[in-house]
Amino acid sequence: MTGQKGRAFDVARVREDFPLLARTVHGKPLVYFDSANTAQKPRAVIEAVDRYYREFNANVARAVHQLGEEATAAYESARDKLARFLGAPSREEIVLTSGTTQAINLVAYSWALPRLRAGDEILVTTMEHHANIVPWQLVCERTGARLKVAPISERGELIVDRFVDALTPSVKLAAVAHVSNVLGTINPVAELARAARKRGIPLLVDGSQAAPHVAVDLRTLGCDFYAMTGHKLFGPTGTGALWARREILREMPPFFGGGEMIREVRFDGTTFADPPHRFEAGTPNIAGFVGLGAAIDYLDGLGHAAIGAHEQALLDHLTEALRAMPGVRLFGEAAHKVPVVSFLVDGAHAHDLATLLDHEGIAVRSGHHCAHPLMQFFGVPATLRASLAFYNTHEEIERFAAALARVRTLLA
Ligand code: PMP
Repeated sequence: MTGQKGRAFDVARVREDFPLLARTVHGKPLVYFDSANTAQKPRAVIEAVDRYYREFNANVARAVHQLGEEATAAYESARDKLARFLGAPSREEIVLTSGTTQAINLVAYSWALPRLRAGDEILVTTMEHHANIVPWQLVCERTGARLKVAPISERGELIVDRFVDALTPSVKLAAVAHVSNVLGTINPVAELARAARKRGIPLLVDGSQAAPHVAVDLRTLGCDFYAMTGHKLFGPTGTGALWARREILREMPPFFGGGEMIREVRFDGTTFADPPHRFEAGTPNIAGFVGLGAAIDYLDGLGHAAIGAHEQALLDHLTEALRAMPGVRLFGEAAHKVPVVSFLVDGAHAHDLATLLDHEGIAVRSGHHCAHPLMQFFGVPATLRASLAFYNTHEEIERFAAALARVRTLLA
């Protein structure tokens, strides 16, 4: 991400770009601490979607008329922007999907299913989201392959040596979150990719929670697949991407069949388009990708360096505030983290606290966060999670901490 390097981050000004942040909830100003679930959208995104429907709504890659050309250009420019944003060597390596879930399922069904055999293994980690577990289990069921799990420490960090040791010849694919949606941990993906590559094992990285916070550079990460989702990146829901090396995509058969993904269809056989269009059957979420393009432009304007410094300060503040509270248990205290903090309060159920906080205008998530195995590791059914973005403020953290201190007494 490029942008206004060196300039101080003006959060008050940035918040003006997000209309929803100005609303009240239960009569209180909203504190939105659920951005890991889905992020709020800047006006630039909302207006881009609005403009698409008002001014150039048409289907892509089908019409020769002016509207069709404008819609296609806008949709395809999202691919260009994503390629640049992720540091992909080529735009042809970006498959537009409905999100991370579809991206990972595409790899599961198109890449893994035809390759895996009984006795093969897929390596994941304890901290994966269900989207990076269940598709592999479905492949395992059909092929007789097995899931293998690399452990994490009590601090919520991947134990890298154990991960590397687990990369045995039976492992045909490793799949790892770049950033944990529960713990905020940033995994050392480049190091993992080097180890996997040395052994000829492809590495898939689930980048859902990384792209909104850390600069992603696929040229230096060294993984083989990278999945991301647009709605956590301040873009519309139903958008996302799979990046994979060109030579890998070329070997992958289509997953969905239909319009847009063919070269020629005959009743005695069909030939398919080249990647990435081979994997994009049917009418896509055009408006969504127009919006995602606008989100990337917006992020470029802010600059990763400024965002990163502000987010680190927010994370430090939030962590300290929670540490200072008696009876609060934090989950995930990795050395390298994004501003996502999971915790529990002695004697209070996570859902009850989240409900009481909601009445204070504070949106946090409670539950298993689509990470049952991680909950099992920590021996808890659920946690509360405060997940922040660059539009959050220190004052909101103060309000959150004060509200938490107040509402917990109601449950004692
Ligand atoms: N992986 C991680 C780490 C996530 O946090 C999420 C969303 N919570 C997903 C995958 C799934 O993303 P989506 O629902 O947008 O496909």
